[in-house]
Amino acid sequence: MIDLHIHSQYSDGSASVDEIAKMAKERGLKVIAIVDHSLEHRKGVNEGKLKRRQMEIEKAKDVYGIEILSGIECGILPGGEIAIPKFNFDLVIASIHEVLDTEEYYRRIKGCLKMNCDKIDVLGHLHSDMFHCGRDYNQDLEIVDMLIENDVALEINSLHHAPPIDFLEICTGRSLKFSVGSDAHTLSRVGDVKWCFKMVGRFLKKGKLII
Ligand SMILES: [Zn+2]
Ligand SMILES: [Zn+2]
Repeated sequence: MIDLHIHSQYSDGSASVDEIAKMAKERGLKVIAIVDHSLEHRKGVNEGKLKRRQMEIEKAKDVYGIEILSGIECGILPGGEIAIPKFNFDLVIASIHEVLDTEEYYRRIKGCLKMNCDKIDVLGHLHSDMFHCGRDYNQDLEIVDMLIENDVALEINSLHHAPPIDFLEICTGRSLKFSVGSDAHTLSRVGDVKWCFKMVGRFLKKGKLII
């Protein structure tokens, strides 16, 4: 079992790296990613925090014997830009964290995939109800094509239950890369990825897990 989207105390999560790793080990997870918010977030990580976080990650890997990826979740800013500290990340997720109208939402997602595909690994919680209203079927098809062309994984996120079923339906039969994440901000949700794998089994049989 894996969970590639967990927030720690280094951004807005409530648990330490050690507590997360311990819980992951207890729950039988083999690989996790600690993914904290980036510079644009009021509690986001900077280079100094990342150095400290990395020391804790290395220590926890030794203590618990599980793989812990060092990740970041960047907000997608106007124009599709992302703000990212200088650091050698194992996993970079880009997600929308603002309520936008439909056109602006698609403009940012597509701009981000075009401009930053060499910097990002995963498109996070696409079409989450929390940040989005309105959908455009043709632009959804474009996004699926762009993910494949640019080798960016689609995240299946169990906190947001995103992407929604009708988006996953258009992914059926496509050789998409995907990632799975609980988006846990508390210890109790670490490894809560059952919904993700249910969706993978239904819609992403032709897909390939990012790790
Ligand atoms: Zn997010
Ligand atoms: Zn998150």
